[in-house]
Amino acid sequence: MINRSEVKIEETWDLSHLFQTDEEFEKALEESKIETTKLVETFKGKITDVDSIVNVIKASQKLEEKIIPIATFANLALSVDQTNDTAQLRAAKVGQAIASISADISFVTSELLELNESLLEEASKKAPEYANMIKQLIRKKPYQLHPEAEKALAAFGTTFDGPYELYNTTKLVDMKFDDFEVNGEKYPLSYNLFEGDWELEHDTEKRRAAFEAFSEKLKEYQHTTAKTYDMHLQTEKTNSDLRGYESIFDSLLFNQQVDRSLYNRQIDVIMSELAPHMRRYAKLVQKVHGLDKMTFADLKIPLDPSYEPTISVEESRKYMKDGLAIMGEDYVNMLDRSFDERWIDFAQNKGKSTGAFCSSPYGHHPYILISWTSRMNEVFVLAHELGHAGHFYLAHQNQNIFNSRPSLYFIEAPSTMNEMLMANHLLSNSTDARFKRWVISTIIARTYYHNFVTHLLEAAYQRKVYEIVDQGGNVNASILNKLKKEVLEEFWGGEVEINDGAELTWMRQPHYYMGLYPYTYSAGLTIATQVYQRIQTEGSKAVEDWIEVLKAGGTKDPVELAKMAGVDITTDQPLKDTIAFIGSLIDQLEQLTEEIEK
Ligand SMILES: [Zn+2]
Repeated sequence: MINRSEVKIEETWDLSHLFQTDEEFEKALEESKIETTKLVETFKGKITDVDSIVNVIKASQKLEEKIIPIATFANLALSVDQTNDTAQLRAAKVGQAIASISADISFVTSELLELNESLLEEASKKAPEYANMIKQLIRKKPYQLHPEAEKALAAFGTTFDGPYELYNTTKLVDMKFDDFEVNGEKYPLSYNLFEGDWELEHDTEKRRAAFEAFSEKLKEYQHTTAKTYDMHLQTEKTNSDLRGYESIFDSLLFNQQVDRSLYNRQIDVIMSELAPHMRRYAKLVQKVHGLDKMTFADLKIPLDPSYEPTISVEESRKYMKDGLAIMGEDYVNMLDRSFDERWIDFAQNKGKSTGAFCSSPYGHHPYILISWTSRMNEVFVLAHELGHAGHFYLAHQNQNIFNSRPSLYFIEAPSTMNEMLMANHLLSNSTDARFKRWVISTIIARTYYHNFVTHLLEAAYQRKVYEIVDQGGNVNASILNKLKKEVLEEFWGGEVEINDGAELTWMRQPHYYMGLYPYTYSAGLTIATQVYQRIQTEGSKAVEDWIEVLKAGGTKDPVELAKMAGVDITTDQPLKDTIAFIGSLIDQLEQLTEEIEK
């Protein structure tokens, strides 16, 4: 794989939209420190009445808007090349500066929460644009610590982020994969190559050999990674205890604005009700590929062994615009901008973060990271990330910084919605059974597998981990391996052999450093599937509702947002309907396969 310095500029994103030069970046960093000092001087110990409440929130808003592009610039530059020393040091410096700023301004929350609630409510009335922010603040009151304790904790900000950074350093910098050999021939291996290519490789011998070599390398780092992870878990546990939450689950779900029942439901229902459908899918893949047995290393292969459309970066724009045209003119204009203005980093290079993500700094356009392999299923990845981009693009235009970000529970709804729309577009423009089967199997293998299986099994495993930690326990590699393996075996039953190496899957996802994130993928996709079905039957009215939900940003909780889009997630019906929908897609795959094989 090539170095970052060798990639084509047109395949990279343009970070100069954040800062033209390094000098400009440094200047902004200095200015934010000065602004912080000013904020402290003006307000510390002086937040006493409605005017000072509104003014200090305004000043915090301004400061936050100033810091966001700085943090984004440093993090994005690092994400495309984790081996770049300059980028590493700069990100560390910015992290430290932000922690120090957070500590300095932690008095704002503390002082606001010491005030009489009626005064805060008066401020809400005077400045309704801050009402939601103040409401969220009041929710936090029971868990707020002494101002000096809050300040000390904020100052340790980067230290608490340490485990996640260590995880990435181990994975992306230290871990070096040797070539692996099949029949005397050598093949290159890396994290990105494994997850982007080898896992999907048609040649069974090569695919399984790659899995083995990949797992061998993971194994060498399992103890370091487990220790790193345990450190993260213990930090979360201590935080939860210090703040007086009843359990670590309540502490982690607090910001999501959902209770434990919504969380548990997602895991329990999917583990039991989706499993039979997915086992049927695994059987079908095995049959089509004529495999002796179905192993964990075979689960990601496309259904059709020889049908693999490819697509170039240049062609992807047309697919995005056509596939998402139903979202309306404004949305399509945004898609054009994302290509014209280079919001997207397509390049494949050494040291680049794995997977794909979208970063949406307030006050600026979103950025998307992806490593384009030219396999056609990348259109789904890109549509997904553009779903996040479109969401925040609209939310930022319509909401202030405090109101723009919804609960994590809802975050994956707009992104997975776009995958559904893309699939529908591809299906309706073809009568070819093979192409149709490819599209449906891609929705299953990617959209649903990824969001309802991969992430959900992470969530089921993660719940077991947190149960141990909540009881005051610790974890190590052998405990994590055991838990992961159990979850995989429970879900796949006897239909899929959980071969050696599968138990190490817990090492692969950065999500574990982001609280209770994994389960939200299936939660978001449940909402998306229901709204998608509404769009199929009701057309533009449903699209309009959806656009309004995107614009609402974080002004409502997930239950209310879903309701705006016509979905009632207070019951398990949407989830059950979604699982039935997945079942019907697998029925179609079975039928199309019969048709093709005739
Ligand atoms: Zn996403």
